[in-house]
Amino acid sequence: MFNKVLIANRGEIALRIQRACRELGIPTVAVHSTADAEAMHVRLADESVCIGPPAARDSYLNVPAILSAAAITGADAIHPGYGFLSENADFAQMVEEHGFVFIGPTADHIRMMGDKIAAKTAMASLGVPLVSGSAGAVTDMDEAIAVAERIGYPVLIKAAAGGGGRGMKVASSPEGLEEAWRVARTEARTAFGNDAVYIEKYLDRPRHIELQVMADNHGNVVHFGERDCSLQRRHQKLLEEAGSPALTAAERDAIGETVTSALKKLGYRNAGTIEFLYQDGQFSFIEMNTRLQVEHPVTEMVCGIDLVREQIRIAAGQPLGYTQADVTFTGHAIECRITAEDPDTFMPTPGRVTAFHAPGGLGVRVDSALYAGYLVPPYYDSMIAKLIVHAPDRPQAIARMRRALAEFAVLGIKTTLPLHQRIVEAPEFQAGDYTIHWLERFVARA
Ligand code: ADP
Repeated sequence: MFNKVLIANRGEIALRIQRACRELGIPTVAVHSTADAEAMHVRLADESVCIGPPAARDSYLNVPAILSAAAITGADAIHPGYGFLSENADFAQMVEEHGFVFIGPTADHIRMMGDKIAAKTAMASLGVPLVSGSAGAVTDMDEAIAVAERIGYPVLIKAAAGGGGRGMKVASSPEGLEEAWRVARTEARTAFGNDAVYIEKYLDRPRHIELQVMADNHGNVVHFGERDCSLQRRHQKLLEEAGSPALTAAERDAIGETVTSALKKLGYRNAGTIEFLYQDGQFSFIEMNTRLQVEHPVTEMVCGIDLVREQIRIAAGQPLGYTQADVTFTGHAIECRITAEDPDTFMPTPGRVTAFHAPGGLGVRVDSALYAGYLVPPYYDSMIAKLIVHAPDRPQAIARMRRALAEFAVLGIKTTLPLHQRIVEAPEFQAGDYTIHWLERFVARA
């Protein structure tokens, strides 16, 4: 097992990883920007190192500073969390070349899945069903028109290097296609430094359903079931559930088997999430995330497993120690992502938190780095807390979430707590009857 783990992240996820390390008896090193000197992840770490000024590119993305912090503190492994450097294959490779263990997949697998075209090609060859679309990058307009005609409008133009819900354009007619194609390429070039785009059928009423997998270094792969992440705004997730209200246990077993056998053939290691769109009983692969996800707690609650602990154990070379048959699912879990944003306009609301009271009680979990007096900085992601509930079934989980949201108090700044309160009251949500397009319309109705 490791002697010391450096956590190359901030906020709630840095705390989450610290907690797993502490339970394993491993000391942790926090890194932080000058803006985060008073942050909870720094206060609770065994050691901390300042790695630069507030802007992420100078601190949390500053690879030489992070590697130096690991060297001077004698850390032997680095956990990247999510966001920042977590899906940067060059970083993973450099970590290993400098003699540290990267707690995550191999650099080659990160690189492969980071290119969505390469990811789709690989998954198709491993027997995973795809959304219909172009076979690879589409480089000229005639080809784009031919693909769109073959699969039928509307189509979605996506950036090969895209992420975070950006770099996607819908076209519903041949006239719209040229404009969408041009805009998508320009945006892809400016946002991701790579203008490769591909075309997919735009599905009109899918759910976003993803499978959590874990693979050890000895060829064992298990899945921990699905998460339904269909409640999105601008292709970004706001609320997630495990399991999906739309899926039967038999469907879960079948897609789980497809995914685990594909990753076994690929030789994949550590945690991964395979994302699908699900419509009319069909799964279509859209992308794979080679890291821990924001929404991992809902899986932990229904499976009774600590996914970060598993990531660390596996990175240290330990075998999983259990099989698919040992993984069981109990009850239902829901997570609300609370952000420092105006609940109506979604404008970020950084500032001083004057009072903070987290809900509690049976089946309630709060993953947050907030405290009363904390100054939410304007430089980073606006998520300030994840509220997770677990209950024997979905109606009880919804009742628990309503109760917990009502107890939650964050004063001094506006947050999206009121929006989550409205969502859990909505009849469509309570019926489990929603697609990826529902929330956008629900927000617009207000
Ligand atoms: P990112 O990496 O930016 O998150 P994804 O490929 O995972 O991009 O897609 C994000 C979201 O965009 C999906 O959850 C879904 O809501 C929407 N989306 C992606 N592909 C399609 C598609 N072919 N049809 C309809 N919606 C899509």
